[in-house]
Amino acid sequence: MTAAPPPEFAARARALISETALLHNLAALSARAEVPLLLPVKANAYGHGLETIARPAARSPHLWGFAVAVPREAQALAALNLGKPILLLTPPTPQEVPALVALGVRIPVATLAEAEALPEHARAHLKVDTGMNRLGARPEAAVAVGQRLAERGQLEGAYTHFATSDEPDLGFAHEQFRRFTAVLAALPPLLAHASNGGGILSLGALPGMALARPGLAAYGFAPPHLREVLPLRPVMSLQAQVTFVHGAHAGETISYGGLYTAPRDLTLATVGIGYADGYPRNATLHAQVTVQGERRPVLGRICMDQFMVDVTGLDVKAGDWIDLWADQGITVSEVAAWGGTIEYEVLTGLGARVDRVLAP
Ligand SMILES: *Cc1c(COP(=O)(O)O)cnc(C)c1O
Repeated sequence: MTAAPPPEFAARARALISETALLHNLAALSARAEVPLLLPVKANAYGHGLETIARPAARSPHLWGFAVAVPREAQALAALNLGKPILLLTPPTPQEVPALVALGVRIPVATLAEAEALPEHARAHLKVDTGMNRLGARPEAAVAVGQRLAERGQLEGAYTHFATSDEPDLGFAHEQFRRFTAVLAALPPLLAHASNGGGILSLGALPGMALARPGLAAYGFAPPHLREVLPLRPVMSLQAQVTFVHGAHAGETISYGGLYTAPRDLTLATVGIGYADGYPRNATLHAQVTVQGERRPVLGRICMDQFMVDVTGLDVKAGDWIDLWADQGITVSEVAAWGGTIEYEVLTGLGARVDRVLAP
């Protein structure tokens, strides 16, 4: 007797990932930077789904490789066998290095001790701290580390990270780049990279750079003052399902804390997504969603797994999908503003209950 297959229960929320938008953004950013891209897919590809993003991205002619934050992400990506280089962006522990090298992962190196401890077939990217003060060798120490890596035949690349490239004032970004190129001048030819998305948009092509690392911009977002630079397209639309439709009478309160009182009789749709899925709880009393093409307010507190929407006058039923954000209409930027946060945090906060679905 064969066991019955396990039931498949559907998710109540789904992120639709547009391959077309992703490939468009990669092409546009690579053209502006005038180099191929090292695409950051850390934090589950900025919440879009590691595999959902990495598979189509690997088909882009503009992609050199992928960047991840932590060893487990490198391991998960390597298991997809996409044939593209993977760079780890944060320091591995000494114990983790051999297994990462065996997976072909490029190792960030900031100290002579790290360089000396690399296994034989390691490929390293020298990390230079030019002012972010987060990771890397300070410029005055970086040259010796890079030279040692070069002697060992392990110096594939070198990189730095801008602290302010998405700010209107680019003075410090230029200073960081000057410090970086001074280090590079003392090293043999290698794959140098500096710009994140903000750097590509604000600084354009930078002399001597071989790669660029756009994160949020690759997923379709630019800081307000840089939105006119490139026509980026949001890669993700987020939808959730109506689970219940019901009425509330004038004077009744809705949701926890009774923060919202119905001013008249209302029809409510309860929607199956909440702050546990990453929809910001702080957007309470500000949030809107799109129902049948109309903007409608979320009423009362956003709960862990659900929230209520005013659908008075619309023909909405359980099972209908509504849009939380999309290419047109409500954007992640708006949701982030309602929640008092930034697009990065909203996107990376999307939880495991949200399906990621690749769409054309
Ligand atoms: C996350 C990250 C990026 C991408 O930054 P965006 O602001 O999303 O473009 C680039 N480089 C490093 C080192 C990073 O950690």
